[in-house]
Amino acid sequence: MQFSDFNINTPLINALNDLKIVQPTTIQEKAFPVIMSGRDVVGIAQTGTGKTISYLLPCLRQWKFTKDKHPTILVIVPTRELVLQVVEDVEKLAKYMNIRVAGVYGGVNMIQQTPLVRAGLDVLVATPGRLLDFVLNGSLKLRAVKRFIIDEVDEMLSLGFRPQLVRIIDLLPTNRQNLMFSATITDELKVFIADFFDNPLEIEAARTGTPLENIKQVGIKVPNFNTKINLLDFLLKTNPDFAKVLVFVSTKKLADDVFERISPLFPESIGIIHSNKSQNYRFEAFRAFNANELRVLIATDIVARGLDFDDITHVVNYDIPEIPESYMHRIGRTGRADKKGVALAFITKTDADYRKSIEELMGIKIPMMKMPEEVEISTELTEYEMPQVSMKNSLVAIPKKEEGGEAFHEKKDKNKKVNMKIRRAEGMRLKYGKPKTRGQKKKGK
Ligand code: AMP
Repeated sequence: MQFSDFNINTPLINALNDLKIVQPTTIQEKAFPVIMSGRDVVGIAQTGTGKTISYLLPCLRQWKFTKDKHPTILVIVPTRELVLQVVEDVEKLAKYMNIRVAGVYGGVNMIQQTPLVRAGLDVLVATPGRLLDFVLNGSLKLRAVKRFIIDEVDEMLSLGFRPQLVRIIDLLPTNRQNLMFSATITDELKVFIADFFDNPLEIEAARTGTPLENIKQVGIKVPNFNTKINLLDFLLKTNPDFAKVLVFVSTKKLADDVFERISPLFPESIGIIHSNKSQNYRFEAFRAFNANELRVLIATDIVARGLDFDDITHVVNYDIPEIPESYMHRIGRTGRADKKGVALAFITKTDADYRKSIEELMGIKIPMMKMPEEVEISTELTEYEMPQVSMKNSLVAIPKKEEGGEAFHEKKDKNKKVNMKIRRAEGMRLKYGKPKTRGQKKKGK
């Protein structure tokens, strides 16, 4: 089947032709007739399956000119980068249509975005919080929305956006079509769907848990952080085919640590992106990596989620994610559009259980490769690799997983102290030394 077999009009056909998009993907083929019929849809699809076009195409096909200045198509996504990406997709698809599209997201001053919203819109792409800001200050009304799309909804719920989503839904007209896309269907999501959707049809892009066939997976047992640095250094130095490498790490701190160590070895070719970086820094890193100005991008799961990077040659799992689905999302960033991709996993002993869960989810084992002999095995452990020291009433804190959001700030110095309780007797001993025995006291007389 080709797009020309779909019931789409010339402006859209021409835009697709310009994009050299001819053959619909599975989700596009499945979603088009259902969305056209007006039914609510839950699409199970991860990034790279063509899910964005799968909802945009029928929505744009059914779009009708209105004099209303408020949007008729509303797309909600979890991150700012995704806003820009979806806006770009709308612009490309609606190239030959007279459609007004804008994107709004938090983390920047509202004043810059206000004229976009006030000017009048057909399609609005937004992160949930900023959308509510505009609704609450009266710049935007949601009464005209006919098609409501929530993308990456599982991610949004896990980031704690449920209350905002519910508020947005409350403000929408009841006569509307709901479309939702998610990489996984969690129990929380099932409840959400039952609460707000009207008998939706479930459409799946590819069975979740099935790694894309054009991704070659390789696992390497690596003992510690420093050896991982040596290995990454070796791989990048000896393999020019590691041309566009996305390195995933679970925490912002770890991402910073990897960046600090690896970027001096490859000046001007390594970038980093995580939620503690400023908005401009994030956009620039994303742009430079996609424009092939950077060879490597170090990223945390949350920020990279949903971002569409072109032609990633290698995904490196610098650590193994605790949630097996995250591994699937990570490796799914390579091997796109019939290109072969390689996904490496640096696996330490402590990752054994996570690795098992991933293999169970995939139904296959991650093929293992021996550590190249040239790589120096370091025995030096980082602060976080030291065995956890359990002290009375205190436990050495492990850096937290990234939790999204923008409101992160450094702890004040006074709050950084580890609370160690010292018994009175110990305190006295520290202050006055070991107490004398009766015998000693007598002798001392
Ligand atoms: P998505 O899954 O929506 O993030 O899309 C991933 C990438 O695939 C985007 O760069 C799209 O432009 C591209 N794409 C989407 N549909 C097709 C298609 N039918 N044929 C080729 N590329 C596509």
